[in-house]
Amino acid sequence: TESLTVGELAKKLGREPSEIIKKLFMLGVMATINQELDKDAIELICAEYEVEVEEEILVDKTDLEVYFEPEDETLNEERPPVVTIMGHVDHGKTTLLDSIRHTKVTAGEAGGITQHIGAYQVDEDGKKITFLDTPGHAAFTTMRARGAKVTDLAIIVVAADDGVMPQTVEAINHAKAAEVPIIIAVNKMDKPSANPDRVMQELTEHGLVPEAWGGDTIFVPLSALKGDGIDTLLEMILLVSEVGELKANPARRAIGTVIEAELDKGRGSVATLLVQDGTLNVGDPIVVGNTFGRVRAMVSDTGRRVKEAGPSMPVEITGLNDVPQAGDRFVVFEDEKSARSVGESRATSALQVQRSEKTRVTLDNLFDQL
Ligand code: GDP
Ligand code: MG
Repeated sequence: TESLTVGELAKKLGREPSEIIKKLFMLGVMATINQELDKDAIELICAEYEVEVEEEILVDKTDLEVYFEPEDETLNEERPPVVTIMGHVDHGKTTLLDSIRHTKVTAGEAGGITQHIGAYQVDEDGKKITFLDTPGHAAFTTMRARGAKVTDLAIIVVAADDGVMPQTVEAINHAKAAEVPIIIAVNKMDKPSANPDRVMQELTEHGLVPEAWGGDTIFVPLSALKGDGIDTLLEMILLVSEVGELKANPARRAIGTVIEAELDKGRGSVATLLVQDGTLNVGDPIVVGNTFGRVRAMVSDTGRRVKEAGPSMPVEITGLNDVPQAGDRFVVFEDEKSARSVGESRATSALQVQRSEKTRVTLDNLFDQL
């Protein structure tokens, strides 16, 4: 801590501010409750109370965003929406993701080995849509907890034969907290027991009123299993996205978020990145969370080697010196030297935190040692 106000220090010491002010007065310092105290003054007061000032470890918490300077927004172009599918267990998320992928693999790329990289893109009427296929809620919450906003739109799947369930409500709350538009996929319409009216009724109670009933939430009845209604769902995604005016500038250095990452025996650190602005190129010097490197190779969701990845494109990269975490931000630097210097400083401070956590003696690990 560089500085504290008299009030903040009093609180930390569990004393009345007036008492601190009095002590300061005795030390020859005239202070008010909102006055900033420097390190020396804080130490003086703490010494009076026989309290040791703990030096906080300096951690590089700088948001990588600061290395991505604002640019002329008129250069921005439309970019594909990034969609997350959420919903109660067994309501059909995986089936829907598979169905969309298999019916709509980007034209010209069909036949390629589809591989799981945590996200994929499809083509609808010449427009692309990016789907995150990491386990819905977990990905959404960890990424959001890490401050990353990757989703433009949430599809909430509700099985028409089961209706609104606890995780449906959870999904609605996540989407609302993230302030992303919601489209309801009323799934399993092929089942004789399907009751879409009940789904609409129950969701209305959660503030999601269908257009047919005068609200503004889009409901798409479908069967993920049979593939019915998938096209309508994709059309609706594009419709909602247009309203959001999603834009990015493909002509600049890339910034984005880690979707997933792991250590591969042969290839080393492998990370799926979602490019959110700019274009990522093979050879780019890059800082990813607390790791850095140079993009060695890039593979698309269809398993093809690519040289560049534009806005909203997911891509798997190698070339990082360590494994980042899902939700970490990445940014491309102009030259390797600056990427290395920023990356190394972040790696060092991350390590310091880890060590201090390990060596700090708590009552718990003290008893473990006995
Ligand atoms: P998740 O837990 O949300 O990922 O749900 P799954 O996609 O694993 O689906 C759960 C079960 O529901 C599986 O047995 C699917 O085959 C079935 N299922 C999913 N979609 C449909 C559908 O549209 N119609 C029918 N009849 N069954 C479906
Ligand atoms: Mg599933």
